[in-house]
Amino acid sequence: MHPYTQALLKSIPKIGSKEELYSIDGSVPSLFDLPKGCYFAPRCPYASALCRESDSPEFLVDEKHMVRCWLYKDSAVLAGNG
Ligand code: SF4
Repeated sequence: MHPYTQALLKSIPKIGSKEELYSIDGSVPSLFDLPKGCYFAPRCPYASALCRESDSPEFLVDEKHMVRCWLYKDSAVLAGNG
């Protein structure tokens, strides 16, 4: 569900395919100069002002899965509440 995971899955080569491989725009941030907010925000096509300001908490999307992305703040339950 996370945009970075979605992008990674799109970049897996398919045997026999001649399609150009998908690549994520931009560069991986330096560990010594991490961006404020979500570390993926500078490269994420869905990034909002909230993403650039604050890292997302974990949201429960079902009984066994969480996603750490602001896209799900209105459709999932905040994790860690008991
Ligand atoms: S929190 Fe925002 S920038 Fe980070 S992956 Fe989700 S939508 Fe993209």
